[in-house]
Parts: sequence; structure tokens; C-alpha cells
Amino acid sequence: MRNRIFRRYFWIAFLLFTLTLFAIDIYAIRSSSSRRFERLQAQLESDARILSGETVANVATWVPNAAARSGFRVTVLDPHGNIASDSSASPDSPGDSLSLNTPFFNAGGPGWILRLSASLNEANASHAAFRMRLLAITLVGMALALGLAIQFMRSYSRRIDRLRTYIVGLPDAGLPDDELPAGEDELGSLALSLRQTAPKIRDLLAKLKLEGARREAILASMVEGVLAVDKELRVTFCNQSFARKMNARIPVPEGMPLLDLARDPALRDILVTVLKTGQPMERRIQLRGAQAHSFEVQAAPLAGLQAHGALAILHDVTELERLERVRKDFVANVSHELRTPLAAIRGYAETLLDGALEDLENNRKFVEIILAHAIRLNNIASDLLVISELESNGPAAQPRRISIRATIESALRTVESAARVRGVRLLTGPVEDFEVLGYEIRLEQAFVNLLDNAIKFNRPDGEVRIGTEAGQNGRGIITIVDNGIGIPSDDVPRIFERFYRVDKARSRAVGGTGLGLSIVKHVIEQMGGSVRVESHLGKGSQFTMVLPTSITHHAS
Ligand code: ADP
Repeated sequence: MRNRIFRRYFWIAFLLFTLTLFAIDIYAIRSSSSRRFERLQAQLESDARILSGETVANVATWVPNAAARSGFRVTVLDPHGNIASDSSASPDSPGDSLSLNTPFFNAGGPGWILRLSASLNEANASHAAFRMRLLAITLVGMALALGLAIQFMRSYSRRIDRLRTYIVGLPDAGLPDDELPAGEDELGSLALSLRQTAPKIRDLLAKLKLEGARREAILASMVEGVLAVDKELRVTFCNQSFARKMNARIPVPEGMPLLDLARDPALRDILVTVLKTGQPMERRIQLRGAQAHSFEVQAAPLAGLQAHGALAILHDVTELERLERVRKDFVANVSHELRTPLAAIRGYAETLLDGALEDLENNRKFVEIILAHAIRLNNIASDLLVISELESNGPAAQPRRISIRATIESALRTVESAARVRGVRLLTGPVEDFEVLGYEIRLEQAFVNLLDNAIKFNRPDGEVRIGTEAGQNGRGIITIVDNGIGIPSDDVPRIFERFYRVDKARSRAVGGTGLGLSIVKHVIEQMGGSVRVESHLGKGSQFTMVLPTSITHHAS
């Protein structure tokens, strides 16, 4: 296979060369033999002219003499065609000789003929030798040409081989530059241009590689799923985020049919439409493979070098949708929560105006009910204010270092009277003091909310215990345990939601707003901590908060 072009040209040239040589040979042989023949004929003619003009006394003696002088065989024929005299004793051998007849009047009158014959044997022999020599020269010439051509071909193909190896290794800088074939000819200048271009090519390749790696990294780190398909809907690329969303193994093999990766007709429909219309499109879908997550899909046609395809970018909007829902629910909940006390206030106020004012037995009770609902409205309003403040990232002031022990003591003082009223014992311990970074009023409020719940959702003679533990790894733990009514396990995951109450009537009766735990969660998470609950219905609950402790500098 190697050097095919070279070999072909070489054989064509060699064939042409051989044909030319042989043509020259044939021409040379032809022209030399005809020239010799003409020369011989001319000599025969001139000798015959001279000899036939001589005066002959005796034919028999003149013939050998004439033959000696001319160097030809001389024969004299009488008018009957008989040989009168002949310089050669041997009979004629026609074909091997060239003869010329001339009228020979001087020999005896009209009808006499002088014949000069030249033997061709000798001429033929010398001609054959000439031919042999020519053939030998031709063969030597051919052998030389062949040898030279092979030599040339070898050196040329060696240089081409080196050039090829260099080019193949160029992207990886496989061969040093001095491995390139040198020389002044075209190959040499090709090598020179290559040597000059090589650094640029390598540079370009390195840049491309870097660019590719950068793009890979960007795509890999993207939260959005990126998917590219060809026009047969085979995956040409997808990033890790997309593969993860589809629970596919990474890396996804190229050329995988889309339906094997994402068994979802909605996504397929979008891509098919984009491929068909060539227009970008945007749609919100729910992917089956991705735990019913919602995605905003932006798809666009992809004009590649070889084939067309489509590209889809998937934004996960599940959380956004959830937040939207939460916001709507919140507005609905707030309206609902406000409606009850407002309706009660209005109802009792109207009743009073309708004559109950004069009802001395009940009028005081009605005003007390109005007051209770007004307080409730006030509680809701102030809780909502706290939440909105927490959600808009808290007060602008700098967070300060807070002593956990001091905050707990202050919270306990706040709930002391409520505990006494309900006959619930407040216990502390063990309490290890540590410092956290945050806002004291907020943290105290969170503790108050939790203690308040533990007291409210308790029974007479119940217990509430608050304890802390300064953890080793920069985290402090605060636990509030009660042996109250507990929370049904179905409700446990939801109790931190706004307005969520296990027993609405009971909560309302004890003055709850359903916002207390929501505030607790906010406060703790804003301080970089977390809160969780374990509860057993009828046995009690335990709220555990983990907070990052602030680094304390001990003065020596
Ligand atoms: P509320 O204003 O009703 O106390 P929270 O957000 O503080 O609102 O609490 C939500 C609900 O969680 C309460 O209504 C109650 O049903 C339940 N809960 C909270 N703490 C406790 C507890 N320590 N024991 C039993 N149930 C609790």
C-alpha cells in the first residue's frame, strides 16, 4: 500500500524510458544497415563505371586483376549469359551478396556483361555485432536508470515517512523538530513550512483543548441540565446535572437513543418540534424520570458542522413552584386566620349594640371576648411582623455574641408564670454555657416559643426540661423536652409550617397563632443552625437545636 503513487509513476516512467530506448535502438539499427547498403551500392556503381571503361586485352587475366583492385568479385558474362571469366571459384550464393550488372562493350562487343558482386556475409556479421553492442548499452542504461530510480524512491519515501510520522505526532508534540527531513527540494521546503507552522498548530490545539475543558467544566458545574441530540434523537451530549436528574449512569454514552435516557414524551415532543420547525421554544414540563420534578425547558435548534440537532436546557423550577404555592397558601391562611377573630369581634360588638349593653349579666363577658380576640389579632400581627422581618434577612444591626445560659435564663423568666398557672414544672440542666453569634431578642423569642409550647401542650403536673451541651466540633446543642401530649407522627413533618396546628381548637384556646415554630425555625436557620423534633403521642416531645458556637478568645 505504501508509496502507491510513487510506484505507479515510477513504473510508467520506466516503461516509457524502456520503450524510447528500444525505439531508438530499432531506428539506429535500421538506419545504419540501410546506409551501409547504399554505400556498398554506390561503390559497386562507381567501380563498375571505371572497370567497364577499361580496355581489355585478355578477359581471363583482366578479371583477377580487376577483382584485386576493386575488392569485389568480378564476373564477365558473354552475350549468351555464360560465364566467360570469374574471379571467384565458388558458385554463386544469391541472397548473401549484392551484385551489379553493367554492359561491358570493351570485353568483346555488345551483349557482354560485367558483373560486380559484393559479399554481404561480412557486413551482416558486423551489423549483428553493432546490434549486440547497442542492446548491451541499452540494458546497462536501463539497469542504471532502475538502480537510480529505486535509490531515489527509497530516500524520497523515507523522507515522506518521516514527514508523516511528524505530522501524526504533531498534536502531542511527538517528534522533535530536527526529525523533519531536510533538503533544498520541494519536500525540504514543505518540511520547513511545517516546522514554522507546527508551534502555531500546537498552540491552537492547546487553546482548543483548554477551551474544551473549560466548557466541560462549566457545563458539568451547571445546575441546569443540558442535553443535545442529533436529528435522529440520539444523545450527542448531556451534562452531569441532566444525567443525575434522569438517574442515568455518568458518563452517558454518546449516541444513546433519547428515550433510553429520558422516558418522557413531553421532552421528546419539544425536541421533535424544534427539529421540525427550526424555531426555539420554551415550555414547562414535569419529567417522569426525575421524581416528578418540574422543569422549564428551553430548546433551540443546533446547527452543527455535519448534522443538525437540537439543544435543550432544563431549569428545575420545582422549588420555585413550591415557594409560589407556599406564598399563595400563606396569603390564604392569613386571611383565614384573621377572619375568625374579626368575625367574633364584629359579632359581639353588634350584639352589644343590639341591646346586650344593657344585659348586665353578659355585657362584661362579651367585652372580654372582644378583648381576647383583639389580643389574638395583635399576636398574629406581631408574629407576622417577626416572620416578615426574619425573611427579609433580619435587622440591619450586626449580629452579636450571645451567652446561651443568659438567654435561657431570661426566656425561663418570661414563661415562669404561665408554667405556674398550668401546674407545669420547669426544670433546667445540665446547662453548659457557650456563645453563639446572633440577635439575643430573636433567640430568646425562639426559646420562649418552644418553652411556651411545651407548657401549653402539656398536662397538669407535667414537666419541661431545658438543657444544653457545648459540643466539641464548634456546635452547641440545646434540648427542650416535655412529657406532654406529644404530636401524632403524621403531623410531625408539618408542624414547622406557618399556621400549621395539630389541633386548631386547642391551639386557639391556649392563644396560639400557629406561627411560633415557624419563627423558631427561621431564627435558628438564620444563625446557621438546625432544629428537629422527636415526639411520641401521649408521652411527650423533644425539640433539639444545633447552633454553631462562636470562637471564644480566652484572655490569659
Ligand atoms: P401555636 O401557636 O399553635 O403554638 P406553633 O407553630 O408554635 O403554633 O406550633 C404548631 C403546632 O405544633 C401546635 O399547634 C401544636 O399542635 C404542635 N406542637 C408544638 N409544640 C408542641 C409540643 N411541645 N407538644 C405537642 N404539640 C406541640
